[in-house]
Amino acid sequence: MRIAISWCAALMIGAIANAQALEITALSERLYLHQSEKEVEGFGKVSANGLVLVDGDEAFVVDTPWTDADAEALLAWATAKGLTVKAVLATHWHEDRAGSFGVFEKAGIATLSSDATQTLLKAHQKTPATETFSGDHTRYFGNKVEVFYPGAGHAMDNLVVYLPGEQLLFGGCLVREASSRSMGFYGDGSLPHWPESMSRVIAKFPEVNTVVPGHGAWGGRELLEHTRMLAEAALKAQ
Ligand SMILES: [Zn+2]
Repeated sequence: MRIAISWCAALMIGAIANAQALEITALSERLYLHQSEKEVEGFGKVSANGLVLVDGDEAFVVDTPWTDADAEALLAWATAKGLTVKAVLATHWHEDRAGSFGVFEKAGIATLSSDATQTLLKAHQKTPATETFSGDHTRYFGNKVEVFYPGAGHAMDNLVVYLPGEQLLFGGCLVREASSRSMGFYGDGSLPHWPESMSRVIAKFPEVNTVVPGHGAWGGRELLEHTRMLAEAALKAQ
């Protein structure tokens, strides 16, 4: 009887976790993909990708989960694994990247962005970062995280993040998944600059093996060329 009750409790916890919709998948021993969902007007339920890189008992998060509830779930997951989250970086100012900065800040975690992202966060009355960097390139987390601004595309401030130890590039919303045949929403970005920005990413990180887009399935290096060609085609079709 007691066993039946605890199973029931476990199922209820599962149901609550599903309502939050945060999913965490191990990509390697020290790297996790976090995926959160939100209902977006005109698009339905949209899932967004972010990363958690682990070094010993410390973790670095790339992009916040979409909602505060999912950010809290991510921090609870880290605590349960004995990890201290050192920082979270937003790859641009939109809600699926920086939307739960406040939860991280309240937990005493550094929230990071570029100066350009910070300006946009403030202009749109969003929670700003606690620390910013200037220029188009920086490193964090003992040089295990390399951040690069290749130029505009999905957003004017979109960054990509290279993890040299994993030969993995997090493309954020600048990179489209393999099944995508469109550029998605770029009302805050610049389609004319997008192909050139992709060329800069391709030239900057020739050793990339794995590419994680901001939404959808991860893949290989070919996602970079795929996105460049999609952007060129979208420009021609205009
Ligand atoms: Zn965006």
